[in-house]
Amino acid sequence: MKVITPNGGTAGRKLTSEFIAFQRSRILKKLEIYNDPKSILEQSQDLGGEITPQQNYRLNVVSIGLIEALKLIDSHPEQYGICLDCHKEIDLTRLQIVPGALRCTSCQNRKDR
Ligand SMILES: [Zn+2]
Repeated sequence: MKVITPNGGTAGRKLTSEFIAFQRSRILKKLEIYNDPKSILEQSQDLGGEITPQQNYRLNVVSIGLIEALKLIDSHPEQYGICLDCHKEIDLTRLQIVPGALRCTSCQNRKDR
């Protein structure tokens, strides 16, 4: 039995299973786009239809992150939305923008640096 509380609570926030399922479907959709070479080419049309190594790298990194988020949702849904590094809750706004986010903004920034 899952405890359903409204979004944006402070300590002990529980994401509803509906929200997690919704995020899961968004991640799957993103993965579909990233794994479709044609759509990647369409995305890069403004660059002359060529996928640069940087873009390729970026797409791989994003795909890996999305797959990791998917695995987490499937194995430990209660851990979704919790930062992997500092174990604090990831901002709900961030999750809505980046459904595959595994880290809070500050930990992600630290990691990217
Ligand atoms: Zn963090």
